[in-house]
Amino acid sequence: MAKLRAVAMLPELIRNFFRKPNTVKYPFEHLTPPPDYRGKMVWDADKCIGCQACVRDCPTNAVDVIKAEPDVKKFNTTYRMYTCIFCGQCVDSCPVDCVSWTSSFELSSDKPQTIQYNASPEAIALARKQAADKAAAAAQAASAPKPEPPADKPAA
Ligand code: SF4
Ligand code: SF4
Repeated sequence: MAKLRAVAMLPELIRNFFRKPNTVKYPFEHLTPPPDYRGKMVWDADKCIGCQACVRDCPTNAVDVIKAEPDVKKFNTTYRMYTCIFCGQCVDSCPVDCVSWTSSFELSSDKPQTIQYNASPEAIALARKQAADKAAAAAQAASAPKPEPPADKPAA
């Protein structure tokens, strides 16, 4: 019986002998991950509006979002990759699409990996200018003379 099985396997054995292996010699060779691969998360801190949805919805407490400067609405994100389970809830929750996956998968480390995504100085300067312009426009509108109410029509 065993002899029969070995004979039946022979064609398959011969075919596989000449086939290229499906595996690669990692780490010397790499396969390209598929387009929807869930690798390391990245935040576009310049787009973040600080709504805290990603912080609230993360099941592993892997994210903190805090103001970049006390007087400006720009935000920095701390991403504790060592607790992330790559579930993608933060991607689904973000209302302005500033969280995304990368295809980066070589993430092992002997230390807990924490990554900081900070708003750029240019984005902070722009937000500060916009806030100042808005405040100036509001002050100007408040100090502008109010239009006179229309005079009452004489009785007919
Ligand atoms: S992918 Fe999941 S676990 Fe990782 S930061 Fe986003 S919500 Fe948290
Ligand atoms: S959900 Fe998006 S916009 Fe809201 S705090 Fe997180 S990254 Fe920022």
